[in-house]
Amino acid sequence: EEHAGYGVAFIDATRAIKAALPHVRISGGVSNVSFSFRGNNALREAIHSVFLYHAIRAGMDMGIVNAGQLAIYEDLPAKLRDAVEDVVLNRREDATERLLEIAVSYKDQPSGAQAKVRNLEWRAWLVDKRLQHALVNGIDEFVVDDTEEARLATDRPLDVIEGPLMDGMDVVGDLFGAGKMFLPQVVKSARVMKKAVAHLVPFIEEENDGDFSSNGKIILATVKGDVHDIGKKIVGVVLQCNNFEVIDLGVMVSCEKILETARREHVKMVGLSGLITPSLDEMVHVASEMERLEFDLPLLIGGATTSPAHTAVKIEPQYEGPVIYVKDASRAVGVAQALIEPGTRDQLVAKARRDNARRRERHAGKKRLLPQLSLSEARDRRHRCDWSNYRSPRPAFTGARVIDDIKLAELRDYIDWMPFFNAWEFHGKFPAILSDAKVGAATTALFDDARAMLGNIIEEKWLQARAVVGFFPAYSDVHDDVLVYADDRRHGPLMRLCHLRQQRAKPDGHAQNCLADFVAPRDSGVDDYIGAFALTAGIGIDEHVQRFESANDDYSAILLKALADRLAEALAEYLHERVRREFWAYAPDERLTNDEMIAEKYQGIRPAPGYPACPDHTEKGKLWTLLDVEKRIGLRLTESYAMYPTAAVSGFYFSHPEARYFSVGNIGRDQVESYAERQGISVREAEKWLAPNLGYDPSAVSAA
Ligand code: SAH
Repeated sequence: EEHAGYGVAFIDATRAIKAALPHVRISGGVSNVSFSFRGNNALREAIHSVFLYHAIRAGMDMGIVNAGQLAIYEDLPAKLRDAVEDVVLNRREDATERLLEIAVSYKDQPSGAQAKVRNLEWRAWLVDKRLQHALVNGIDEFVVDDTEEARLATDRPLDVIEGPLMDGMDVVGDLFGAGKMFLPQVVKSARVMKKAVAHLVPFIEEENDGDFSSNGKIILATVKGDVHDIGKKIVGVVLQCNNFEVIDLGVMVSCEKILETARREHVKMVGLSGLITPSLDEMVHVASEMERLEFDLPLLIGGATTSPAHTAVKIEPQYEGPVIYVKDASRAVGVAQALIEPGTRDQLVAKARRDNARRRERHAGKKRLLPQLSLSEARDRRHRCDWSNYRSPRPAFTGARVIDDIKLAELRDYIDWMPFFNAWEFHGKFPAILSDAKVGAATTALFDDARAMLGNIIEEKWLQARAVVGFFPAYSDVHDDVLVYADDRRHGPLMRLCHLRQQRAKPDGHAQNCLADFVAPRDSGVDDYIGAFALTAGIGIDEHVQRFESANDDYSAILLKALADRLAEALAEYLHERVRREFWAYAPDERLTNDEMIAEKYQGIRPAPGYPACPDHTEKGKLWTLLDVEKRIGLRLTESYAMYPTAAVSGFYFSHPEARYFSVGNIGRDQVESYAERQGISVREAEKWLAPNLGYDPSAVSAA
């Protein structure tokens, strides 16, 4: 408090002395300016940084600072920066009170600068070496100045790209290839490169000095109906680092657009990505269109839902050209590079064909071996809950309700971090991977960046979360469905939720599972319920993603998307807890830690349509109708039933203590026929949506 206004005095003094005595150097100390905030490192760093920033602008030539206690001015959260500036520049009467008020929320923030004292020795090196250092270490702070210095030292601006920048990226590529650098670090290097290139482009255009030679163009696209693109973005960035020109067509891209662009841009290969199972069919379609339109470009397949088996069995037979499954971003570069070298190309393509053929054989063999029960046998071996001694818990309300009092700050403690690291291709256990000998430094840096951004997301309200929850009277019926009723009179069902039953024979004594078994049938005398929910934490994300992308900052754009996904999953966990304790209230006294919740140590489940126990994505359509999701919270479904915004979760709630997740696995044609009838669709259409679960070849059956 006693220092409010101290800053302005120092800065004014600097300015005055500079003006009066231009040849005099001023020295002064500000080291204690923030001593009243002892313990709050984030705040102290912010004050130092704001102070220094204004002192330099006021004319100070040089400051001696402890780099270990300095944040980067541009990186300060706007709210914090403004509050600190109000104090340092003495801008308002209540500046101190306001700063003290927000100081609390920065108390537990990791102190970026303190974590690793910044060693700035490299700033004294020659410019080429500085550029390389910046690239390898992902430091974008000085890169525009350094690039400018390098440009002034050569005749052609292009020399800077072809010289030090490309050399630096080669080092990055080598380190990555050798397993000494990891994806987040490479994406940060790419950010440095992009900023340098963006600085040079106007000069290159001015000189009309032609293009520099690249390895060629690659199209990347998330297929029609699918909206996920974190992995694809990472692949794109890594390929760019290796001198490929990436044409990223984004998400929900139609086949026509992909192939038109491929023709027009003379690309060297096409990469398709997808996260949900209906995308598999769309990829088959793209492959068959490439055949029909006489393409011969390599087709690369990747994304969470894809697999070597699907690529071999379903996609490759559609297309004569090379079809290659790419497991992850780390492998994309090797594949792309091998494909553009005539020497290695033939070898790679031949190997892919051999692998695919072998997989097809294995697949055909497996199908024949699996014993499959008939649907009625499987139903006989259902899981039987003991309804005679069961009392069904009654929810606090029936019908749907919007939950709009969600505070992002509260969700922070519900985050499961491991999937965040998986998105960046780190595997293992959290938090152990933070101290892992090999990846610890990289994961810790990533985690620090993530937490810092999460702080900004919360503090500056970048994202909004909304959810809708509903409970409905329900009975299961003999056809493996759950009938949902509008109210407790339970007249004429509102909706039929269709479920699938495991048909692969289980060992004796094990049930052939189906989710409907966990809801009481009408003749049990138990009046049961089912719950449903849909939520998103991605409202407002686009604006911020665009802000980062237009600043050539893919790293932050990807980080933000991954964090939004985490918040959505955290919200699902938070909401489910409230359901158990408050809304359905069957476990009012439950107190679980986050780890226990992640390990699902609670009663009841929240199966999500599209997941193994209920693999049909179209059931989301019913959920949307039941809860009026789009109107209530603005969350939409694509034609393939992907949710948009992507940071979203939806599913059903089952409260029975025996309810478990399982995998439906392969089903027989008898079940598909029954299912089609219950859904009111043709067998052919059911086969399309259930394609990943068919235990038979539908084309063989219809031919017969
Ligand atoms: N903690 C994880 C949670 C997601 S995975 C995260 O933050 O990403 C667990 C969720 O996936 C479950 O709650 C359920 O909604 C869904 N799920 C998992 N296995 C399933 C199955 N076999 N069938 C249906 N849904 C399943």
